[in-house]
Amino acid sequence: MRRNFGTTQALAGVSLEIDRGEVVCLLGPSGCGKTTLLRIAAGIERPTGGRVLINGHEVAGPSSFVVPEKRSVGLMFQDFALFPHLTIAGNVAFGLKSLPRAEAKREALAALKRVGLEHMADEYPHVLSGGQQQRVALARALVPRPAVMLMDEPFSGLDVQLRDAMQEETLSLLRETGATAMVVTHNPEEAMRIGDRIVVMRAGGLIQQGQAEALYHQPADLFVARLFSEINEVAYRVGADGKIDTPIGKLSPPAGLQAHDAVTIGVRERDIRLSDNGEGLSGRVLDAKFLGDVVRLEVGIEGFDQPLKVRVRESAGFRQGHDVRAQIDPERALVFAAELQK
Ligand code: ATP
Repeated sequence: MRRNFGTTQALAGVSLEIDRGEVVCLLGPSGCGKTTLLRIAAGIERPTGGRVLINGHEVAGPSSFVVPEKRSVGLMFQDFALFPHLTIAGNVAFGLKSLPRAEAKREALAALKRVGLEHMADEYPHVLSGGQQQRVALARALVPRPAVMLMDEPFSGLDVQLRDAMQEETLSLLRETGATAMVVTHNPEEAMRIGDRIVVMRAGGLIQQGQAEALYHQPADLFVARLFSEINEVAYRVGADGKIDTPIGKLSPPAGLQAHDAVTIGVRERDIRLSDNGEGLSGRVLDAKFLGDVVRLEVGIEGFDQPLKVRVRESAGFRQGHDVRAQIDPERALVFAAELQK
């Protein structure tokens, strides 16, 4: 799939297949092309090259284009605008115009019941809270039983607590209806919560895809690693023996690198274990920032040219000036070719 806007390549050759009933999250920074991909799937945008198939039917391609209304897609966008002049039941029934009135009403009420808002059916949208509006928008998108639900940052307008609840509710509703879904988000935590699969995009390309655990443990590059954890990045070079000599031992470089090539070692802030006087490298706490449940420390550790950031539980009691021992499991260190860090 390709999409150009003038000289901007919004999508530079992305290929994606989604299984029936699967929830896929497109994750990436602003401008990486995720919305464009969603809009192409919806039929709001045309691809410059490539094809879109839904249930095996081509809905966009070099010589085909099916309009959004005929694609069996449910749309839910960030602003999820409800029609202010229609009742809540009317809003939900909007996509059921092909059904007889009574039947459409019955279906709409059943969908509202699912989202816990049956009692508001005859009210108008302005009386609803943000979360309630979101539930109505969800019911409206799902009620025609679309083959694919396309959601663009559906939770970003909600405050944190409401967002957590809505993510859970939305996911269980998608499961209940067996809907296939593509959800755009720039929030890694949200992607991990709701995606069966996460597709990481950058600069119009697909960087890596997989389950959250796989992306966390085997990030393809530093960019993906940064999305899923707070990491220290330390620059090294591959030695003459083909190994990287670090204070935590000799590490192997990624395949294809040779002696003298530059690498970046990533050490997660949570992967550094501190103790008062156990085993490990000696170090000193240079700074401590209280962040509630955790404290983020800057620790000078022997052998490292730069202080490393370390997250510890607040109850662990490490404070500025403490002498400590630091243990870092070399198995958990991430090693990347330096040119991949962007
Ligand atoms: P965001 O999270 O900010 O919405 P995104 O990852 O969804 O970002 P897109 O909206 O898909 O990114 O945009 C990808 C690129 O294409 C950007 O450089 C954007 O400026 C450009 N672009 C998108 N739509 C248009 C358009 N209609 N006309 C011109 N350029 C566009």
